[in-house]
Amino acid sequence: MIVLGIESTAHTASVGIVGENAEVLGLASDMYRPAAGGIHPREAANHHVELLPGLVARALEAAHLRPREIDAVAFAQGPGLGPCLRAGATVARMLALTWERPLVPVNHCVAHIEIARVLSGLDDPLLLYASGGNTQVVAYGAGRYRVLGETLDVGIGNFLDKLWIAMGGTFPGGPALEAEAKLGHELIPLPYSVHGMDVAFSGMLTATLGLYAQGVPRPDLAHSVEVTAYSMLTEITERALAHRRRTSVVLGGGVACNERLRGMVRAMAEGQGGTSFAPPKSLCVDNGAMIAWTGALAFGAGRVVPVSASRVEPRQRTDLVEAPWRLPPAG
Ligand code: AMP
Ligand code: MG
Repeated sequence: MIVLGIESTAHTASVGIVGENAEVLGLASDMYRPAAGGIHPREAANHHVELLPGLVARALEAAHLRPREIDAVAFAQGPGLGPCLRAGATVARMLALTWERPLVPVNHCVAHIEIARVLSGLDDPLLLYASGGNTQVVAYGAGRYRVLGETLDVGIGNFLDKLWIAMGGTFPGGPALEAEAKLGHELIPLPYSVHGMDVAFSGMLTATLGLYAQGVPRPDLAHSVEVTAYSMLTEITERALAHRRRTSVVLGGGVACNERLRGMVRAMAEGQGGTSFAPPKSLCVDNGAMIAWTGALAFGAGRVVPVSASRVEPRQRTDLVEAPWRLPPAG
């Protein structure tokens, strides 16, 4: 089975094509980069509308496939920015109708989990999902993915982006802050906000910007923010592992590209006698291949929607959708 998947939940328009065993046959992506400030939903949607047709062509070309060789079309149904989701869904509906192929809705967060899970080879790991808009610790249980802990305010990536932009940088802030942190050495105490298995970042944002205004060097602040924020994520992941009696973790989401976060989670998991795994960076950030792969799993479990019922769900949480492909086979 070969599935084409379309991702358009936020800043990235991406088309991926995957085969039977999650091999990525073609992947073409383009990220909307605002000239200043954060993402403007309508501008990002316009970017996606303009670029998606060309990305479909590029992904097919990279895969050396013709449209008739695609078995199903999957799209990210939510969560995400409404105008951006609609751009991707419209292209997916058009392809499904033109090619006469089934249309498969996919939850974006579940897609981050599934691509990490299949690449890791781990059967039932815990997931630390750290992206722009989402920050969750997730585990499978009784038919769907359960959110064990999450951010109580903004996603970690949005926090890093907001901070970096307010300190004079441009979007995306995470990678730039990672480079800046390598130049810093002093660990400045910042609000460390862990509540059970939840975290919050707004206190750290306010405190860091206050210190920056007082003249504290940016590299030291970047270093301290990374150490503090990633320690918080590592702590809630460790607590969730203990509660769920698991030992392995997979990482997903754009912030999982971060080497310090990867290293901290790896050290923690290995300390528990387990393992951790992070996909290659092109599959950590938002991408069409994860939508295609999760679409293949969902399609295999019979999850197809008619175009007339394929509305997008900007607030579709991880634990709102079922994962029937994870159920043990009947009988
Ligand atoms: P996503 O929403 O999953 O595509 O992830 C996008 C987010 O990942 C943005 O907020 C980026 O700033 C962040 N990001 C990407 N690379 C890194 C990195 N190396 N370190 C920290 N954050 C990153
Ligand atoms: Mg994402």
